[in-house]
Amino acid sequence: MPEGDTVWLAGERLRAALAGQVLTKTDFRVPQLATTDLSGREVLDVVPRGKHLLTRIEGGVTLHTHFRMDGTWHLYAPGDRWTGGPDWQVRVVLENVQWQAVGYRLPVVALLATGDEDSVVGHLGPDVLGPDWDLDEALRRLRAKPDAEIGLALLDQRNLAGLGNLYRTEVLFLRGLTPWVKVSDVPDLASLVEKGRRLMLGNRDRWEQSTTGSLRRGEDHWVFERAGRPCRRCGTRIISAEQGAAPQARLSYWCPACQLGPAPTPTPSRARRERPLGRTRYAP
Ligand SMILES: [Zn+2]
Repeated sequence: MPEGDTVWLAGERLRAALAGQVLTKTDFRVPQLATTDLSGREVLDVVPRGKHLLTRIEGGVTLHTHFRMDGTWHLYAPGDRWTGGPDWQVRVVLENVQWQAVGYRLPVVALLATGDEDSVVGHLGPDVLGPDWDLDEALRRLRAKPDAEIGLALLDQRNLAGLGNLYRTEVLFLRGLTPWVKVSDVPDLASLVEKGRRLMLGNRDRWEQSTTGSLRRGEDHWVFERAGRPCRRCGTRIISAEQGAAPQARLSYWCPACQLGPAPTPTPSRARRERPLGRTRYAP
């Protein structure tokens, strides 16, 4: 699952390539849209909302896409070789005279009336990277479930939209709390949420996602995907365990010395199951 900053950057690139331009060709490779043709219409805007991307098209139509695990958009000049994966993984192609925008492996490709966008994104909490970010509203939603584990509450897009596993893991390290602390037991919830937002803001204009200040590979995270390795602050071995129920369970990482609060006992089999999350790539 990409973080909101990945979606934000993809949206920025797509907006620069498509907005204000007339589509010269569209190719929807999902069964329900197989006969749809939006060529001749102008793309009005491309708007990220949390991890959703809304491409608004002339005539009151919005293309709704969601990246989920490994969906991605690539941009190519006409004649370029497409490199985002095998042809059968292409879900949608939007073309204008300058660009071919190719959506790979997108699990959600749907058209809806622009006026009905709330039906797909209306449930989302305040958008961490959105122009209408509302800290008080995010806090209100978080505090409405005081017994929720903070690690899961930060991931719940109904509380705040855009934060994913990387940033919630890292911000909890930086605030010295395990992901299993109850929302009501977090000492300064506002500062925790704002810190998470600042981490995302610091990375939204680049593909790298550093929470430590270093862009060097292997030095860019405090605990995320570092199970079994020494804590950068205290040298204690970082541990990991799943949090939440399947299929929404996510791997949490924490330093048992630097982070206070409840935590489960990690098991070796869990540690072996982890794998690096692929960063959603966007080309060129
Ligand atoms: Zn530590």
